[in-house]
Amino acid sequence: MQLDQQQLHGLIEAVARRVIEHAEELTELDSAIGDGDHGSNMKRGFESVLADIDTIAAKPLPDALKAIGTQLVMKVGGASGPLYGTLFIGLGKALPDGFDRQALAQALSAAIDAVRARGKSDLGQKTMLDVLAPVQEAIAAGANAPTVAARAQQAADATVPMKAVRGRASFLGDRSIGHMDPGARSTALIVAAIAAALGERP
Ligand code: ADP
Ligand code: MG
Repeated sequence: MQLDQQQLHGLIEAVARRVIEHAEELTELDSAIGDGDHGSNMKRGFESVLADIDTIAAKPLPDALKAIGTQLVMKVGGASGPLYGTLFIGLGKALPDGFDRQALAQALSAAIDAVRARGKSDLGQKTMLDVLAPVQEAIAAGANAPTVAARAQQAADATVPMKAVRGRASFLGDRSIGHMDPGARSTALIVAAIAAALGERP
């Protein structure tokens, strides 16, 4: 798969708009088990990506991903900014400009390892990793774009009964049970936007 500049522009814009449109929902989720800033954090980050989109989309894919990651580190803040930054920068480091499914699965796996290391976190702790890992598995297993998106949302839903072990929500202990993790939901939104944009490619 090789994205031309226009396709990359469309993809980045779709992801940014999807996150921005859902800022309120993300904030509500974070109000239940955190400090209620995940929506505004992510909105700020992706608004800054949109402000720079022409420059970013003109870059080769690996550099564009790194530029997005850098914006997110600088603008999102909180715990999620450095973690999403690490994810996108990790993807940029591992993904070649033209890539196939196997390369995408490998790059995502490397980027997930980087997030894990950065967050000192792992699966089952009620974080974005609980969506990223099943998405990586679905891609590696050959799932098509709509299936990958559905799997991402299923995985976000599956964080509801989990007890948070990392991040602010972990301060609540058992009281974190019964709510969806905001970072898991934002990851599912990003995956859905990417899947929709790639699925529509001619
Ligand atoms: P903060 O918790 O600093 O207010 P946000 O509200 O923007 O930051 O982001 C919270 C989200 O970040 C959580 O829902 C979770 O998915 C993710 N997160 C927090 N800490 C970690 C961690 N150590 N590893 C992976 N993800 C984490
Ligand atoms: Mg928060």
